[in-house]
Amino acid sequence: MVSMNTFEDNFDIRKISPNTWVIGTKYPATPWGCDCYLLECDDACVLIDSGMSKLNIHDYIRSTGVTDKPIVAVINTHSHFDHTGGNGYFPKVYMNPIGEKGAKTPFGANISDAPETDAYPLDYEITPVHEGDVLEFAGRPLKIFEIGAHNLASIAILDINNRMLFTGDELETGWCNINIQGEPIPGMTVENHYRNMQKLYAIYDQYDWICPGHHGMPVDKSTLLEIMHADELILSGDFGSDDIPAKAGPVKGIEGYRVMRYKSAHIGFNVKTVYDPK
Ligand SMILES: [Zn+2]
Repeated sequence: MVSMNTFEDNFDIRKISPNTWVIGTKYPATPWGCDCYLLECDDACVLIDSGMSKLNIHDYIRSTGVTDKPIVAVINTHSHFDHTGGNGYFPKVYMNPIGEKGAKTPFGANISDAPETDAYPLDYEITPVHEGDVLEFAGRPLKIFEIGAHNLASIAILDINNRMLFTGDELETGWCNINIQGEPIPGMTVENHYRNMQKLYAIYDQYDWICPGHHGMPVDKSTLLEIMHADELILSGDFGSDDIPAKAGPVKGIEGYRVMRYKSAHIGFNVKTVYDPK
């Protein structure tokens, strides 16, 4: 059993720009950790995603001393619990409202050292965000783009003044899964993922760096082009490979589950949910 009793067991922090830090969060029951981002504005800080450590990520950030400004809000890139578990430690939570139920549902309930619901502060209100909203934090306006496909509540967050784009799990270099179970859920198709990536391509001149939810950060914005090309290959009828790497988790035996690789892009998908229903 891995010790997870100290802040150092659960978190690490690294500065990635003069006013931005990435906070790595770890959880022993899963092979991945979520990367959260601390954004320092003129008079306050905001956090993008909150991990799912049982320790208090707000207290951890305070303990690092990287900034004295109050952390007034968390903004969720999407509703998966590895990004939302620490939400309740902050005074305000912004998210796409369709994600509220998922954001308050700890996952991993069938793994032995899985989180228990009562280990997390889940009694918090959400403040909805929608396509085109600009959250006016002093000196650091953040613009919202809806990009749901991996998760229907996904948003991208454009840090207008600092030319950074936060993309959650929809655009990352390690492993982007889009409805690998192949269930017919509107929006959870490769076709819709590609449409969302085109939306981010339409503002390609407005950012230099992409900050994803996992597997390395920041990454060059050309990562977007590689993800788009992988989507294009799938949509053209090239269904990649069924050789799924172990890092994708315990997902063997899902009928139709495939992976498309192109340079840094790895897209997990299901042949049944490549295209929109009509
Ligand atoms: Zn996710």
